Amino acid sequence: MDNSTPSGLSRRGFMGGAGAGGLALGASLMGPPGRAAAASLIDVSKVTTPAASVQALPNAYYLANVRLETGFVEEKKAWLDKPVITRTKTELKTLRIANGAVAEILDAKAAVPAGAAAYDAQGQLMLPTFRDMHIHLDKSFYGGPWEATLPTQRGRADRVAQEQELLPKLLPVAEERTAAMVRLMHSQGTTVCRSHCNVDPVSKLGNLEHLKASLARFKDTLESTIIIFPQHGLLASDSVGLMREALKSGGVDFVGGVDPTSFDHAMEKSVDTTVQLATDFNVGIDVHIHEPRETAVPAFNRFMDHIERNKQLQGKVTFSHAYGLAALSKEELKDFAARMKALDITLATGVPLGKGAMPLRELHEAGVRVICGTDSVMDWWSSFGNCDILQKAQEIARLQYPSTEYDLSRTLGYATGFVTPLSDKGEPAWPKPGDVASFNLLPASCSAEAVARLPVRNAVFHKGRLVHGAVPKAV
Ligand SMILES: [Zn+2]
Repeated sequence: MDNSTPSGLSRRGFMGGAGAGGLALGASLMGPPGRAAAASLIDVSKVTTPAASVQALPNAYYLANVRLETGFVEEKKAWLDKPVITRTKTELKTLRIANGAVAEILDAKAAVPAGAAAYDAQGQLMLPTFRDMHIHLDKSFYGGPWEATLPTQRGRADRVAQEQELLPKLLPVAEERTAAMVRLMHSQGTTVCRSHCNVDPVSKLGNLEHLKASLARFKDTLESTIIIFPQHGLLASDSVGLMREALKSGGVDFVGGVDPTSFDHAMEKSVDTTVQLATDFNVGIDVHIHEPRETAVPAFNRFMDHIERNKQLQGKVTFSHAYGLAALSKEELKDFAARMKALDITLATGVPLGKGAMPLRELHEAGVRVICGTDSVMDWWSSFGNCDILQKAQEIARLQYPSTEYDLSRTLGYATGFVTPLSDKGEPAWPKPGDVASFNLLPASCSAEAVARLPVRNAVFHKGRLVHGAVPKAV
């Protein structure tokens, strides 16, 4: 992947997501008719992202022809009362990257010192790295043969039963499965993530050991944090002791949890125990709550009562999914969001589609930090999950925003932790000298287009290091 053009790369990058077979398909389609029998079979026995070597860049280099956003263009339209934002202005710049950060932003015409390493972004748009803030990197069918979810007769209990059967079988391949998922994340432009990790009576700390080992291998290309997740119920599966062991083992950033009423059938004790674990080990909390509002809201309030009393937890608690919030009235949501904001609680979402759409825009506009994630990557809980966080931003845009230049541009923030090239007022906000050099180069003219069109991620950088794709040398 060295001297290829961006469009060539885009095809390879895209096909790469579907396995090496994609390339063979292209070749066989181009062959002369009548010789189809000679074509080899395309290998569809594994769904994975193939390992590909990427160019090692020096510690300091120039990156020329980088497209940066500089402002919005407002125009008066005869049929509209007020001027409207119709386009985004961009300029080509040369960036100097050094020690993992943006060292300088120079005019495109600035001379690069003779002998300095220099690469060419070819006019592609630079966007901040994407952040996958709710994913399960410890368990997946991804990296192995395709399997869709099974129908259930007893709902979630059947999923847990299937998981109990699968976990021991998956332990020996856990690290290679995680690696396949990380390669997929990188190919989609993500270099920051927060991963849940099962702690349960079947896999015990096995998944956690494998996840830590895998993430250590990717420490130079992926910034990650771990949530230990009692998937079979903290109390229901008697996992408190295991959770303590997991916390003692180190390298854990959050205590997880799941549905204190419907899993544990003891909401107060379940919430209190989760909080106790977090405070004992001075870590954050990130709980899955899928319950209806009738039981979810009292659980959230109990967490918030704790956080109100315990300042140590403020800014360190995330509610994941929280589907029950979709059933709140406008007024109820306003009060609930105000309390979340006051206690600095984050909302993590996989952006559910269909009825009961989550009020993500309302929460964001009320000042609650909203983060997005893939959640399951093709496992027995969900057949979906392609690690494209830009697509999550697009889904929020489609569900909750008009598709105008301005609104699309703003929704990019859901993918980037609200680091956006332009501020809400249209002032250049990113990148600035000193910012971490974690970014994507994409063939798009602006953020709004990127959200609408989901262009291929041609070159993905983490702290100045190229982690996916390619960038040609400047001549
Ligand atoms: Zn999850």
